[in-house]
Amino acid sequence: MIVLLFGPPGCGKGTQSPRIQQWLEIPLIATGDMLRQEIRSRTRLGRGIESLMAAGGYVGDEQMNRMLLRRTSQADCAQGFLIDGYPRTVNQAIFLERLREKRGLPAPIVIHLQVDEDMLLMRLSGRRQCAECKRVHNIFTNPPRVEGLCDCGVPLEERNDDRPEVVRARLQLYAEQTNPVLDYYGGQNCYTLDGMRHQDEVFNEIQGILESQLVHVRPRRPARSTRG
Ligand code: ADP
Repeated sequence: MIVLLFGPPGCGKGTQSPRIQQWLEIPLIATGDMLRQEIRSRTRLGRGIESLMAAGGYVGDEQMNRMLLRRTSQADCAQGFLIDGYPRTVNQAIFLERLREKRGLPAPIVIHLQVDEDMLLMRLSGRRQCAECKRVHNIFTNPPRVEGLCDCGVPLEERNDDRPEVVRARLQLYAEQTNPVLDYYGGQNCYTLDGMRHQDEVFNEIQGILESQLVHVRPRRPARSTRG
């Protein structure tokens, strides 16, 4: 099973993806987290994309496709995976389509979280993330138990691309480059959900959708032999 979490910055992808990962026990590929790790580790790629990401720009398709290819080639991805943050352009969607066809994987299930712009802006301005466990908090709507600290004890960080002027640029880029990806999938296996609700409600709906899909893909248990 391939699950794509889709939606603008702040729609809740980073909140829902670890919950889905734990529940389904499938690998999570969160491209934004992978890129931020490259920056923290001062790799060649990380140094090359640091200022672009801080300004809210997109990393090039070629680099992203290479990153996806490398990660999905690992053994744990053989049966499927969950992706948060890719494909973000139609070119990336075409690349993923070829890759999954080559590997004989089923068409992706696209979970699209829809949220009004005002709420996106509010969520992004209060967002604080843990670099260690990746949990996303919000100082207004979902504060940690201790101010400034993730509930796992590690200091929370504010992303430098969550500054208001950068957020505007990211939302515009999303509208121009990423929204067309939904048209590319043409509504097939696409589910648009109201992402304005409490995260538990959104998660329940996602579970319902994916459970109905699992019924189709899970091999039926062989009938038990009646012979003694
Ligand atoms: P959000 O969904 O809130 O924008 P992410 O953590 O998914 O946050 O992504 C942060 C940044 O990482 C993006 O603004 C972009 O610069 C870069 N990025 C992540 N995934 C991709 C991708 N598939 N293609 C291009 N750039 C990407």
